[in-house]
Amino acid sequence: MPKHDILLKNGTLIDPGNKLNGAFDVAISKSKISAVSSSIPEKDAGTVVDASGMIITPGLIDLHAHCYGYFANIYPDELCIPFGTTTMLDAGGSGWKTFDHMNETVISKSITRVFSLLNIVGSGMILDKEQVVSDMDPIATADKINERKDVIVGVKVAHFEAESWEAVDRGRKAAEISNTFMMVDQNPINGRTMEDLLKSHMVKGDILTHVYAWGKPIIDENGKVAKYFFEARDSGIIFDLGHGAGSFSFAMAEPSINQGFPPDTISTDHHRSSMLTNHSNMTNCMTKMMVLGLTLPEVIEKSTLAPSLILGHPELGHIGEGSEADVAVLKVKDGHFGLIDNGLTGNRVLKSKQLIENQMTIKAGEIVWDKEGFALDSYKNTPKPDLKSIYHQR
Ligand SMILES: [Zn+2]
Repeated sequence: MPKHDILLKNGTLIDPGNKLNGAFDVAISKSKISAVSSSIPEKDAGTVVDASGMIITPGLIDLHAHCYGYFANIYPDELCIPFGTTTMLDAGGSGWKTFDHMNETVISKSITRVFSLLNIVGSGMILDKEQVVSDMDPIATADKINERKDVIVGVKVAHFEAESWEAVDRGRKAAEISNTFMMVDQNPINGRTMEDLLKSHMVKGDILTHVYAWGKPIIDENGKVAKYFFEARDSGIIFDLGHGAGSFSFAMAEPSINQGFPPDTISTDHHRSSMLTNHSNMTNCMTKMMVLGLTLPEVIEKSTLAPSLILGHPELGHIGEGSEADVAVLKVKDGHFGLIDNGLTGNRVLKSKQLIENQMTIKAGEIVWDKEGFALDSYKNTPKPDLKSIYHQR
């Protein structure tokens, strides 16, 4: 029996959680990382993957995606696994009334590790129901979170359109009672302001998603990042990318990053529309942030370690010896590429000379995506067909 089941050899390991960036082999045995070293012998492993020219990272963690409850949701494995994402956070698809159904039909069935933010709306992310204040029960929401803290990590508030912050305030209450955090997607409409939301209705540890959306302007009329965004960051509020189909504009992101306001976490808001129109998968969003000036280790840190800490699962954000074997193997390609954004005036493109693409996804020690068959034996080793037995099959 070989010492390791899988060996990723000759790659570049970028694991910000362990402060590693360089030439390291990574070995996996059963569901855990069994060795990380500058050279692990091939003879010690069952399956050897030549990762030359590739980047080995912890499995990506998508802090905002949709696998339940929303009309455009996608089953987690199609949504995540091809893109190197081994863990996703469903952002408010279910509420306290529907979480058990989500757990039974989606979470417990998927390869992808799924955590949940419970919608403050008991019925979940059904757009017209998100306006019904009487279905926003902080106590019932907190009770369900407390019952399933192994999977539910906080509260989501989104799309409430009245003049008040009632939905946000009820969400905050549920987060307070359950000792969790709240993720907010609220536009400053009907007299509400972003400044008021950030200063008076959110607290340290809460997350504002869609940080570069036109609908939630971070940039003022002079092209500057609004002062209260910096103040909110200083006070401990977290700013998440949440790309989506209508929530990421290069014209917002570029000046923000140039002025020192990168996102804290990179997430996709992945669902049917954002997948089909903007290709807003994790590696695409990471590419966009890298092209706007972040380094590759920074975009990896914001897609692995940073979200793992927010989820309260630091063990998922790094691949040190003994940790869970969730791994992504990426290629940074040079060539001629286009990256698509969205905004209130439609989709536009940023030309890029680089593109990050996922090649292999390993979840808990199993290779669940191998785009180009790097873990497979050569077709030349196909055994001769046993024609006799084939002709005798009925
Ligand atoms: Zn969303």
